[in-house]
Amino acid sequence: MKPDLFEAPDYYNLDELLTEEHKLVRDAAREWVKRDISPIIEDYAQKAEFPTQIVKGLADIGAFGPYIPEEYGGAGLDQISYGLIMQEIERGDSGVRSTASVQSSLVMYPIWKYGNEAQRQKYLPKLASGEWIGSFGLTEPDHGSNPGGMVTNFKDMGDHYLLNGAKMWISNAPFCQIAVVWAKNEEGRIHGLIVERGMEGFSTPETHNKWSLRASATGELIFDNVKVPKENLLPNKSGLGAPLGCLDSARFGIAWGAIGAAMDCYDTALRYSKERLQFGKPIGQFQLQQKKLAEMITEITKAQLLAWRLGVMRENGTATSAQISMAKRNNVDMAITIAREARQMLGGMGITGEYSIMRHSMNLESVITYEGTHDIHLLITGLDVTGLNAFK
Ligand SMILES: Cc1cc2nc3c(=O)[nH]c(=O)nc-3n(C[C@H](O)[C@H](O)[C@H](O)COP(=O)(O)OP(=O)(O)OC[C@H]3O[C@@H](n4cnc5c(N)ncnc54)[C@H](O)[C@@H]3O)c2cc1C
Repeated sequence: MKPDLFEAPDYYNLDELLTEEHKLVRDAAREWVKRDISPIIEDYAQKAEFPTQIVKGLADIGAFGPYIPEEYGGAGLDQISYGLIMQEIERGDSGVRSTASVQSSLVMYPIWKYGNEAQRQKYLPKLASGEWIGSFGLTEPDHGSNPGGMVTNFKDMGDHYLLNGAKMWISNAPFCQIAVVWAKNEEGRIHGLIVERGMEGFSTPETHNKWSLRASATGELIFDNVKVPKENLLPNKSGLGAPLGCLDSARFGIAWGAIGAAMDCYDTALRYSKERLQFGKPIGQFQLQQKKLAEMITEITKAQLLAWRLGVMRENGTATSAQISMAKRNNVDMAITIAREARQMLGGMGITGEYSIMRHSMNLESVITYEGTHDIHLLITGLDVTGLNAFK
C-alpha cells in the first residue's frame, strides 16, 4: 500500500468550532491511525482478519468509552470528541471503527446507563482498557430491521435465567469475552443480559465470505440453554427503547466516522488528480474531474457541519433519535457516493489495494446497512415529519 500522506480537508475552517481539547484528541487519533493502522490495514482486510494487536492502541487513544466517566476507566470526553475519534479511526478503516463503536456505544453504554453499580465496576474498566472485548446481540436471522420481533428468550428458573436463541451478524462476536444480548422474558418484554464466554451452551461461530468490513470479525451468538446468573440482567431499562438508546449513540458515531472514510477518498483522489497525467496534462485539469472533486468537498463540508451541530445537541441532551437517523443516513450515503466517484478518478489503480478507496467503498456497503438501513432511516425521518408510520 502507498505511504499515508493524508491531509484532512477543512474547507469551512471548522477547526474554529473545536476546542483545544477536541483538536488534541483528534490529532492523537489521527497520528495513531497513520502510524498503526494505515501500514497494516490493507493486508488484514485482504486476509479477512481483525488485527488484534491494535486493541491496546484503540484503548490508548480513548476509543473505548470516550464519554464514559473516568471513574469507570473511560476517557470522560464530550460527544464531539467521541465523534472526532470515530472520524479518525474510520479514516483508517470502517471495520476498526466498528470494533470501537460496538465496544463503546453498544456494550459500555448499556452497562453504564442500564446497569447497576456492581456491573459497572465489574465490566467497564476491563472494556475501557481493551482487556475485554464486547459484542452486542440484537439482530437475529429472521429479525433485522424489525428487532422487536426477536425470538431469543429467557426463562426465570429461580436462581438463574435460562437463555435460548441465536443472534446473527454480530461484530466482534468471534473473540468477544462478553456479549450484551437482547432477549424476551416470559411476558415478551425485552431485557439486556450480559453473557460471558465460557458459559455452557454459548458459542460464537464466525461468519466468513464477507466482501465488506473484512478487517472486522463478524459472527453469530448461539444460546443453547445457557444458564445466565440473575445478577447479569441489566436492571435499569427494558423494552425496545433500551437497545434503541444504544443505537442512537452508535449511529451518532457512524455519522462522524463516515466523514473520515469520505475525507480519505477525497484526499487520495485530489492528490492523484494532480499527479496523474493523461493527454499531457494532470487529470485534475479536466473539468469532469474537477466537478467530481468540487462536489465531494461540498458534500464533505455539509456533512461536517451536520455532525458538528448534532454533536452540540447530543452534548446538551436535545438531539432526537430522528435527528441522529438523518445524520447517519446522509453522511454514510455521502461517503459511499464519494468513494465510488473517487475510485473512478483513479482509473484502474482505483481497484487495487495500493490505495484505500476500494476498501472504503466495500466497507461502506456494511455501514449503509447496519445500525438501521438507509431505507429505515428515511422512514424514521418520514415518520418524524408527517407523524404517519410507514413501517408496517
Ligand atoms: C458487517 C455487519 C455487522 C453487523 N454488526 C451487528 C452487530 O454488532 N449487532 C447487531 O445486532 N447487528 C449487527 N448487524 C446487523 C444489521 O444491523 C442488520 O443487517 C440490519 O439491521 C438489516 O437487517 P437485515 O440484514 O436482516 O435486513 P432486512 O431487515 O431483511 O432488510 C432487507 C431490506 O428490506 C428493507 N426493509 C426492511 N423493512 C422495511 C420496511 N418496513 N420498509 C421498507 N423497506 C424495508 C431494508 O431497508 C433492506 O433494504 C451487522 C450487519 C453487518 C452487515
